[in-house]
This record gives sequence, structure tokens and C-alpha cells, in this order.
Amino acid sequence: MLLPNEAESLILSLVQPLQETETVCLEAAGDRILAQPAISELDFPYWDNSAMDGYAVKYSDVQDCSASYPCVLNIIEEIPAGYCPQKTIESGEAARIFTGAMLPTGADTIIIQEEARREGDRVFILYPPAKPQAFVRRRGEFYLGGKFESPPLLLPGIALKAPEIAILATVQVTQVAVYRRPCVGIFSTGDELVLPNQPLQPGQIVDSNQYALAAAVASQGAIPLRFGIVPDQPQQLRETIVRAVTEADIVLSTGGVSVGDYDYVEQVLAELGGEIHIRSVAVKPGKPLTVATFANGCLYFGIPGNPVSALVSWWRFVQPALRKLSGLRDGWQPIFVLARSCHSLRSDGRRETYFWGRFDSGEFKLAGGSHSSGNLINLAGTNALAVLPMGETEIAAGATVQVMLVG
Ligand code: AMP
Ligand code: MG
Repeated sequence: MLLPNEAESLILSLVQPLQETETVCLEAAGDRILAQPAISELDFPYWDNSAMDGYAVKYSDVQDCSASYPCVLNIIEEIPAGYCPQKTIESGEAARIFTGAMLPTGADTIIIQEEARREGDRVFILYPPAKPQAFVRRRGEFYLGGKFESPPLLLPGIALKAPEIAILATVQVTQVAVYRRPCVGIFSTGDELVLPNQPLQPGQIVDSNQYALAAAVASQGAIPLRFGIVPDQPQQLRETIVRAVTEADIVLSTGGVSVGDYDYVEQVLAELGGEIHIRSVAVKPGKPLTVATFANGCLYFGIPGNPVSALVSWWRFVQPALRKLSGLRDGWQPIFVLARSCHSLRSDGRRETYFWGRFDSGEFKLAGGSHSSGNLINLAGTNALAVLPMGETEIAAGATVQVMLVG
């Protein structure tokens, strides 16, 4: 039985990031993983422009002015945003200018309108600017386009979220190279399982795992491939595993990995040539985790069937592997933070034990109700798992606990 950290490292060592890329338009690039450095020929700002509403002037004209001895300048042009200035500012002249508008040739400084008084076609500058180029955004000040030595705007291996999409749009990158989405095969094993839209016969239970895992996979930007429910029969299991391993980059099956008479997953994986790396991990819930690889590179997770165990395994072990596979450069592993536990947390100390609940404002609150791994009803709203380390039997209420952020 591996320790959780050992299992995590081993699993990550089995994953090679995807190499295949595709080009998508900017509108479809959100949440995708950038595959090439983003660069542009454009400078940003594109032109010298004004950061404020005011007057574009020559610094040498206004540097010595004061409220008692204002500098009087003739306004020769009005420059709203989006307009290309037509005139050159000479000594004794100014242009009325607005935020974001292009600086006219000859001007080097902006006087904000609060520090000037306008009278018809003249403006009285009442205060000297703090420095030359005050309130001017210089062309290329934030990014110098097309220069060999400029670092790329964005490095490959990052997820494209709203800020990155804004950057790409700004420099007119409208076609983006991203890694292809990973495909994750999902199926559930168990003679007792029916679909949510099938009538329940005595003894049967509804397969919630394939729905939970498909949603979890999609939330990571990957494509869930559903292979349905497979009965506890080696032949049908064999056929499904062969199809799933052929079509998917990662396969998740739930159930059939404990020590029961009908638990065939590990046996079938071995028969099909899967190399088994992990059989169990010292975590509670989620101990009977099977991890195997196939010659085609497919990574197989045989996850326990209990819905809570399945999700804990997903958060702790599968999601990091999927994130690495997807091309993310870093940030694969879960984030752990310290919290004050609002409750006493207990276990027998034999395995690292996870308690589900909510982390908020530095505190961890247990979900109300039963913490049996058979209960999934109180999982709703879970955003953290508190971790009681192996060898420890209690964390007292009010004491500090490590929590793993999930979701
Ligand atoms: P197993 O891992 O196959 O021994 O299953 C452990 C427990 O989880 C049993 O109580 C199963 O009925 C239940 N279970 C297994 N698979 C699922 C599933 N897909 N959805 C909901 N519960 C399941
Ligand atoms: Mg089963």
C-alpha cells in the first residue's frame, strides 16, 4: 500500500503531456491550454496616447507656469479617442485631448483638465506638470512588438482565462495554437447498476459515478467518452477496457477494484497486458485504487465504486494526472492550505483520512450528516477536504488542519 504522496508522484511520473496541437479561433480559446509562445508584431500601446482628459502641450512651454503666472496656449485642434491628429503642436500651442486619444506630433506632455482653465480657443495652464511626459502612455511602453529580444506575451502551458484572452485580442492574435483536449473514457462496473432514467428493481442502485466523473472531466476542459455500465463479468469488462484504452488517453472505471468475489478489474487489466503500478493507497476513503498503463500510453485508473471514494480519488489522484496530460506547465497538484478546524476530526490513524466540507475565511466546517463513504448526499457544496495525517487519531476542534481545496 503506497502513501498518498508516493502514489501522486508515481502517477505523475507515468504521464507525458500531450504533444498534438490544434489551432482555434480566439472566441473558442477560453480555458484551452496555450501550445506556443504568444508574440505579436504590434507594440502596446500602439501609439503615444493620453492617459487623461486634458491638454496636449510641450513641456518646455509649461514647466515654469503657476496659478499666479499661468501659461496661455492657443488650442489648435480637438483630439477625441480614435481620431488621428492632423496638426503639429508648436511652441505656444496646445490640443484639447481625451483619454486614450493619440498624442499629436510636437506635444510631449498632458496637462489634466483640472489643472487648466479654458477660455474660448485659449487655455490657461495653472500648474506645471510633475515631469516631462506626464500622463502620456508611450508607444511600446508595455510591450515592444516584433523585437527579437522581447519576451513572449504568454508562455506555452498556461490555461487561457479572461486576462490571457484579453492580451491575445489586444495584440490581434486571432488564431491560437492550443493542445488538443484529452479524451477520458469513463465507465461504471457493477451488476447492481442502472441508469438514472431506468426503473429501480429491488437491490439495484443508480450509477451516479459516470455522471459525476463526466462532469469533473468536462470541468477540466477534457472530453468525456462514456462507455456506460458494464456488468461484473470478465468478458464484458475485457471488451469495454479494450475499446476504452484504444480510444481514450485516460480511462476511469469505477467499482470492481476491492477484494470481493466479483471484483475483476485488476485481473482483466493484467490479462490485457496492462502494467499495474498501484493496487492500493493509504487513504480513507479510496484505498483500493488501481493504476495501470498500456503500451499505447493510455493511463488507466480503477477507482473504487463508492461515490464519495470515487470523487476523493478523482480530486487527489486523477485530476493532477489529467492536468499534466493536458499540457499545463505547472499547477497540476491540489492546493493545500491551513485552516482552523471548527470540529474535532477523528480516525483510527491507519490511513490518511479525508473529511469533506467547506473552507471559508480560514475555517474548515465539516459537511453536516454522516461521513460514511456510502453517503453522497452531504457532498453538495464541498469545496475542501480536511486531511487527518496517517498516524494521527484526532485533530481537536479549534486546532489547525491542512485542507485540500477541491472543485
Ligand atoms: P465496489 O467498489 O464495486 O465494491 O462498490 C462499492 C460500493 O459502491 C457498493 O455499495 C456499490 O453498490 C457502490 N457503487 C459502485 N459503483 C457505483 C456507481 N457507479 N454509482 C454509485 N454507486 C456505486
Ligand atoms: Mg462492484
